[in-house]
Amino acid sequence: MTTPATPALPAVPERSRRYLPDADGWVPAARRVPSPNFDERPPGTPVDLVVLHNISLPPGQFGSGDIEAFFQNRLDPDKHPFFATIHQVEVSAHFLVTRQGELVQFVPCTQRAWHAGQSDFFGRPRCNDFSIGIEIEGCDDLPFTPAQYDTVAALVPALLAAYPVRAIAGHSDIAPGRKTDPGPHFDWARFATEASLAPGMLPYRCPPADASADASGD
Ligand SMILES: [Zn+2]
Repeated sequence: MTTPATPALPAVPERSRRYLPDADGWVPAARRVPSPNFDERPPGTPVDLVVLHNISLPPGQFGSGDIEAFFQNRLDPDKHPFFATIHQVEVSAHFLVTRQGELVQFVPCTQRAWHAGQSDFFGRPRCNDFSIGIEIEGCDDLPFTPAQYDTVAALVPALLAAYPVRAIAGHSDIAPGRKTDPGPHFDWARFATEASLAPGMLPYRCPPADASADASGD
């Protein structure tokens, strides 16, 4: 049996080095806010997709701390009418990028966060199994901040270097008709430029078959 050569991982830009996850999947530069809403990825599942989202709690408001509360199952149902409808929902994401560009991490990248819900990536269901979820604090109606582009564009190359990521999708790409985030204000071209993404990674498309795809596991 022959072993295919391991493809070289992309070089990590200087500004992305502090966002490289450690062996346990935690990014040292992130503020750690552990969520209980995660479990194991299925055995032998490579992390090959990054999913971008937006979120704001209460809707359209920023900086309340309620996103962190939501992902830690401690949202106050009496604080806002919307919270009463969602406070028992158990969800999470690996990361949140605040309006100020601060990176918060809830779940280690090695584990399965609960961010995508019912979803499909070119015929592969349950995108949580194989993806990393990044929430960008925002909504469908307002631009994101320059600081948020800076952080997302520095984080994603680190994830590309650490894991065999082959594609970057919006939540709306993998759950069309059900989800709209990150929404029309997320500037994919700006993100691709700032992150120095390889041509072909965006716009969202089916990733080419990759000889390394059957080398599952680590
Ligand atoms: Zn989403």
